[in-house]
Amino acid sequence: MSTKEQIIELFKELNGKDKSILLNELGDLKSNKEQIKVDNIGNCPYCQSNHTVKNGKHKGNQRYLCKACNRNFIYSTGTALQGIKKRGQFEEYRSIMLNEGIVPLKTMSRRLDISVQTAFDWRHKILCGLRSNIGDFENITEVDDIWFLYSQKGRQGLKYSRKRGGSKRRGDNDFQVKLLVTSDRNNTNDMSVVRIGRLKAKDIERKIGDRIGDDVTLVSDKHPSIKSFAKKNKINHVSFKSSKHIKDDVHHVQTVNGLASRLKGELNHKLRGVSTKYLQSYANWFQFVESHKNKVNLLKDKDIGLTNKQQWNTFTSIEKQYANFIKKYSVRTYRCPTKRNWKTALKDTKSIVNVGYM
Ligand SMILES: [Zn+2]
Repeated sequence: MSTKEQIIELFKELNGKDKSILLNELGDLKSNKEQIKVDNIGNCPYCQSNHTVKNGKHKGNQRYLCKACNRNFIYSTGTALQGIKKRGQFEEYRSIMLNEGIVPLKTMSRRLDISVQTAFDWRHKILCGLRSNIGDFENITEVDDIWFLYSQKGRQGLKYSRKRGGSKRRGDNDFQVKLLVTSDRNNTNDMSVVRIGRLKAKDIERKIGDRIGDDVTLVSDKHPSIKSFAKKNKINHVSFKSSKHIKDDVHHVQTVNGLASRLKGELNHKLRGVSTKYLQSYANWFQFVESHKNKVNLLKDKDIGLTNKQQWNTFTSIEKQYANFIKKYSVRTYRCPTKRNWKTALKDTKSIVNVGYM
C-alpha cells in the first residue's frame, strides 16, 4: 500500500469532528500558515526575564511585552522560526534532517522547492539549536584530539586559490584545526573545536574542566597537554603510546576513536569537507545524533532544533563567533568577512549562546 493509500485508510477511521479538524489543519499547511505552535511562551528572548505580559496581537499571533526590557515579542521571536515565511517547508526540512541526516543542499533545494541559499541557511539555523553539553563525565573517561584541515570553503573574495586549507603533512601545524573528543562509558560526550595548532592543557581545561566528576579516570594517549591537564587538576590518568590505543580491557580509547572516525567519515567524505567556520556546528549535530542513537523517534520531541530562544541570535552571529575564534585561538589571519546583515541581529554578542567555539 502506498503512503497515500495508508493515510486515506487511517482517515476513514477518524470520527467526524477529528476529520474536519484535520482538514482545516491540512488547509493551513497548504497555505503555510503558522503550523508550529509553541505552547509555553517562556522567557523574554532578549533579556531572559520571565516578567512578561500579553500585549495584543501581531498578525494573528499573541504578542507579549517584556516588563524588564520593554520589548515586544511573539512565540517565534529568537527561535529558528524567526523570519521564516515558508513554515510548512521549514518543518518538512527539519523532519528530513532528523530522519535522514544531513542531505546535500541541492537535493534539499529540489525536494522542497527552495533556493540553495535557503537550504543552507535552514540547515545552519537548525544546527544552532543542537549543542548539548550537559552532564558531568563519570568514571572511565576517554579523551583524544583529532584534526581537520583549516578550510575557508565558501568564503568569497580570497586572493589565493587554496580555499581548502594548507599543508596536509602530519604532526602539529598551524593549518590543523583541533577538535577535542571526550566520552565516558555512559555516552556522555563532548566534541569541541578548540584551536588551530597544537592542543594546549588550558584548551582542555576550558572545554571540559568543569565537567570532570570526582571519580573520573582519564584515559588517553601520551599527549603532554592531556597529561599536564590531569596533573594540574589532580585527576587520575591512565595513558599509553598512541599506536597501541589500548592499555588493558578497561583502559582504552576505542570509544572516542570510534566517534572520531565516524565524524571524519561524515565531514570529510560524505560532505566532502566543511569550512572551519561551520565545523563546530556540524560537530554539534554529530554529537546530538550519537547521544540520541538509541532513541527511536527523534521527532517526538517537537522542540529539537526549533524553539530554543537563542537560536536566531546564535545563527546571525556565527561569523562574529568564528572571527573571535580565529583571532583568539589560531595564528591564521581572519580575512574577507562574510557580508550578510540581518536587521534584527544583536549588536552585543557577548551574551549570545555561541555554537561552541569559545
Ligand atoms: Zn526582556
